[in-house]
Amino acid sequence: MEFYNKELETISRKDLEILQLKKLQNIVNSALKTPFYKERLNGIGIKNGLDLTKLSDLQKIPYTTKDDLREAFPYGLLSVSKDEVVRLHASSGTTGVPTTIYFTQKDIDRASELVARSCFCTGSRKSDVFQNVMTYGLFTGGLMLHYGAEKLGMLVIPASSGNTSRQLKLLKDYESTVIHATPSYLLHLYSKMDELGYSLKDLKLKKAYIGAEPHSEDIRKKIEKLFNIDAYNSYGLSEMSGPGVAFECEYKNGMHLWEDYYIAEIIDRDTLQPIEDGKDGELVLTNLEREATPLLRYRTKDLTRIITGKCECGRTHRRIERIKGRTDDMLIINGVNIFPSQIEEIVMKTPEVHTNYQIILRKAGELEKIIVKIEVTNDVFSDDTRDLEKLKAKIQNNIQSVIFVKPVIELHEPGSLPVQQGKAIRVFDER
Ligand code: AMP
Ligand code: ZN
Repeated sequence: MEFYNKELETISRKDLEILQLKKLQNIVNSALKTPFYKERLNGIGIKNGLDLTKLSDLQKIPYTTKDDLREAFPYGLLSVSKDEVVRLHASSGTTGVPTTIYFTQKDIDRASELVARSCFCTGSRKSDVFQNVMTYGLFTGGLMLHYGAEKLGMLVIPASSGNTSRQLKLLKDYESTVIHATPSYLLHLYSKMDELGYSLKDLKLKKAYIGAEPHSEDIRKKIEKLFNIDAYNSYGLSEMSGPGVAFECEYKNGMHLWEDYYIAEIIDRDTLQPIEDGKDGELVLTNLEREATPLLRYRTKDLTRIITGKCECGRTHRRIERIKGRTDDMLIINGVNIFPSQIEEIVMKTPEVHTNYQIILRKAGELEKIIVKIEVTNDVFSDDTRDLEKLKAKIQNNIQSVIFVKPVIELHEPGSLPVQQGKAIRVFDER
């Protein structure tokens, strides 16, 4: 097995914890330079990083939330002078106040290093041609993967998102071997190939990095089967410098979370107390090395669990399960709690389903109903209408058996449901 940085990737748990504690003490000192953390940490008696004498002392520190970042906007969480900052990334969300993360040159270098490590652990090498189909801009998904891929030495095509026919032309002309895109966009790209005059024979693709939005194992399998490639799950968030927080290795059984840069905790969604490895909960992250915007115990709102046990690749960093959804994704329909991912799993397992679907919630008198619009392959429409009804009933029953609410199923032609350039929006709550 080859490693990008063998010493760090295969570090023993004991050495890792020593390293984490040292870095934690340093990052607390950086955090104390920000008005926000100075007040918060002094309030609980922490005046110096050395006040934390063991890793579990981290649990004395309150969580940091997205709202905290918004309140500290624009510079309340900056721990160096503006002279030292070379870039910012921001995500706007719904309230309009952006959450902003600043980078020194060292921060950019470190984040790129982690992305390079991540790409390497999927088997990518200097000889690869990397087409980056994530949006370039304030969003970290485009630029940060770009920097890491360059650091690894791949030939990078900064395609950015959108313009499907140009993407296909680039894939063909430059014989791209690795593509980075949202899973929903990759499915869309596939569905347009034929119409735009391309076939799989035109492509040299070997792998895809899919991330930025929740997706089920069945979506991964579908992408792998349609393109005849390997697809690797890539997890990150702008608050933690973007991609390269956790990434799948060649074994594709959960994402290694780079614990020399991040301390991961899983907390119970209701009690907010840390829970043991293997149990589902919300991921909380502390970044251990960031000069400009240190964040301690940041609540990601992402739901996952730690996968226990060793990975065959030999990396010792613990893995997280694919993200099930976000705590704020949960839908309540007629009092029943439902995650969109539960519906997706059923939909994408159905062989007749094409590449896209939507979930719509509506009021129906006193009650509420859930409508699932699904693109199915053309063959389905050429069949007998009785077969169409049977297919609808099959999907309806399968979904109902999981979410305990009977959905209304609508079948649509391939390519007829809208596709977004960035993260897929599949749930429309019209209640
Ligand atoms: P942003 O800060 O705009 O890059 O968005 C980060 C969020 O995107 C994360 O907190 C997750 O909710 C979601 N996300 C990123 N990568 C993945 C992934 N591989 N699987 C599921 N959700 C993801
Ligand atoms: Zn592994």
